[in-house]
Amino acid sequence: MEKKELLYEGKAKKVYTTEDPDVLIVDYKDDATAFNGLKKGTIVGKGAINNRMTNHIFKKLEAEGVPTHFIEELSDRETAVKKVEIVPLEVIVRNFSAGSFAKKMGMEEGIKFACPTLEFSYKNDDLGDPFINSYYALALNLATQEEIDAITKYTFKVNEVMREYFDSLGIELIDFKIEFGRYHGQIILADEVSPDTCRLWDKETHEKLDKDRFRRDMGNVEDAYEEVFRRLGIQ
Ligand code: 5GP
Repeated sequence: MEKKELLYEGKAKKVYTTEDPDVLIVDYKDDATAFNGLKKGTIVGKGAINNRMTNHIFKKLEAEGVPTHFIEELSDRETAVKKVEIVPLEVIVRNFSAGSFAKKMGMEEGIKFACPTLEFSYKNDDLGDPFINSYYALALNLATQEEIDAITKYTFKVNEVMREYFDSLGIELIDFKIEFGRYHGQIILADEVSPDTCRLWDKETHEKLDKDRFRRDMGNVEDAYEEVFRRLGIQ
């Protein structure tokens, strides 16, 4: 499988076409951004970690009945994926208070919820990914009710599988963001699952092992990504 043309360059990944119109190659970068691109930097080794971690977790999710775009890992940074049309929703699940939730609700971080929450943001950089509900998504034709139902069902399953898996690695899954795509009429999980897109705290020490270390200038950013990768035990 070979790259043909650069189709799209995002903040953390480049996407290439291949000879197969149904297949793209994703190439993960070490570039890091935060606050809608206002803060820029590099996290050395992040591209390879995020690529290999996403593939490892997507394989587990597939085994648990969540369809994903994963086809084949081609190298440390490159993966062949099914070409999807991305549903323009960021789907966010929270198990504990943190980040924008803690700020909005005037709560400290790390309070465990009675049950997980699910929310949507409209994927739009110009607007800074505003919070929306399913009625907005329907009214603006961002997704159909059937698609929202499938997304909701898969998202709670993703949370269940990932929460249990990270727990076995001594990591608390605080919250995360995922994205879905349309592939031949079906909703499948796309994009990535990594310390860029999840809040991951050490269960014992509550040390942050995710992109908040970069967002908040906490230092030891690379160490945190490497620690998560080490615990995954990927060969
Ligand atoms: P918050 O709304 O608290 O800022 O983020 C909630 C969760 O979703 C965090 O795990 C955060 O990493 C993830 N998240 C939300 N929006 C984005 C985004 O635009 N990019 C990335 N990489 N993660 C996001």
